[in-house]
Amino acid sequence: MRILILGGGIASISLAKFIQQKKQIKQITILEKEEKVGGLLRSYEINKIFYDVGPHIIFSKNKKILKLILNILGKNKNSLKRSNKIIYDKNTLIKYPFENELYKLPKKDLQFALNKFLKNKFSKIAPKTMKDFFLKNFGEGIFKLYLGPYNNKIWKMNPSKLDTQMVERIPRPPNEDIIKSAKGIITEGYKHQLYFHYPKKGGIESLFTAFKSKLNSKVKILTSTKLMSIKTKNKKYLIKTNKGIFNYDKIFSTIPLNEFYKYLEKNDKIKKISRSLQYNSIIIAMFNIKGNIAGKNFALMVPNKNIIFHRISKLDFLGKNYSLKGSTTFQIEITFKKNSKIGKMNNQQLFNRIYEGLKKLNFVNKKKDINFKSIKKFKYAYVIYNLNHRKNVDMLLNYYEKKGFDFLGRWGSWEYLNSDQVIAQAYEKARKFLI
Ligand SMILES: Cc1cc2nc3c(=O)[nH]c(=O)nc-3n(C[C@H](O)[C@H](O)[C@H](O)COP(=O)(O)OP(=O)(O)OC[C@H]3O[C@@H](n4cnc5c(N)ncnc54)[C@H](O)[C@@H]3O)c2cc1C
Repeated sequence: MRILILGGGIASISLAKFIQQKKQIKQITILEKEEKVGGLLRSYEINKIFYDVGPHIIFSKNKKILKLILNILGKNKNSLKRSNKIIYDKNTLIKYPFENELYKLPKKDLQFALNKFLKNKFSKIAPKTMKDFFLKNFGEGIFKLYLGPYNNKIWKMNPSKLDTQMVERIPRPPNEDIIKSAKGIITEGYKHQLYFHYPKKGGIESLFTAFKSKLNSKVKILTSTKLMSIKTKNKKYLIKTNKGIFNYDKIFSTIPLNEFYKYLEKNDKIKKISRSLQYNSIIIAMFNIKGNIAGKNFALMVPNKNIIFHRISKLDFLGKNYSLKGSTTFQIEITFKKNSKIGKMNNQQLFNRIYEGLKKLNFVNKKKDINFKSIKKFKYAYVIYNLNHRKNVDMLLNYYEKKGFDFLGRWGSWEYLNSDQVIAQAYEKARKFLI
């Protein structure tokens, strides 16, 4: 059997690793359009500091997968404990998750958050949207003060237009914890991601490279390869690319599901559904600033709608290889939609808005305190769970799977999956394939 895997991110590399031992498989080809494989697990370097497409921490609820990841990383890892804050205003940093440090809020806001949590008029509703879910589980106060503004900012959409798939696993905090948090008694709250790992050096790409090093000689990687069309003939797939025409017995796809229709025979209905799938893109900015800023924190959430970025991460927190003496390195994230005002800004305009935001937060005073900076844009960052997501994605997957294609990965299956979940999905696909 000759297998083709479209796309060269961690979904593809891990699937290849999991199926390469099967005797029936003669060759596995990974086809990647970029010059380099890695997808969202690539890291970039600026003045010897490696950074990711948004800091990629390593954690998993799936113990087996976490063990596998950590084994593959070998010695190249640090273990860390979460130290994340919400920048409520420039004088108020609230420990993440928000509901576990309510006493830091101004008195009026604290009363609002607490009363609406304890006497919640939404407690009996059956949530259909993300907004309903937050109102039911956290009350109107916490929703209006933090969850609403922050989610509006990251999704660039009102949470009443998003479904509950992403949030439904978040547990409702117990009343005792919220009462304690209002009194100033600290509880840890949501423990998922409390402890995590990160490569000692090289950024998250070193995890990808470690996985890739486990591939055997059956696996061939074609980079800078443009897929042009896929045709089916006598139960084989005929693939036309800028590097020639090839034959395969099976295709797995990890490339964005919304673009897959382009390579097959024309079908207007499928095209229309594909084009209705929504995603957010992301701007990743790196700012190295003089001085030690923002304490011993890692991620700082910024719900303020007048500041362009929604999250800043202090990379120094990740270990000495991510830190430069006498300075602080911030990674700054801004989501955007195609053709939006932010999406159309050039780097100078983005720089000005980021600088303005950092100044509002007292993280910088003058432009000459910025030692160096970089700004990059990435098209596919977040799957959007709009109210038609489940119906449309299932319809596309059913249609393609009947034709024998198999989909996986964050974009292939069009789900909000972290890399551990993508690896787990590849493991499952491999297990079911050729049993
Ligand atoms: C801001 C941000 C923060 C994140 N933080 C974390 C985190 O803390 N921890 C964590 O575990 N995960 C995190 N993730 C998620 C993680 O990045 C993904 O789960 C994972 O990288 C997805 O891998 P993939 O292979 O499915 O997709 P990708 O990495 O997107 O790979 C798809 C590949 O397909 C290629 N491709 C696309 N179109 C074509 C085409 N037509 N032909 C050929 N090739 C094509 C792309 O170039 C790419 O290489 C984060 C993601 C983002 C955006």
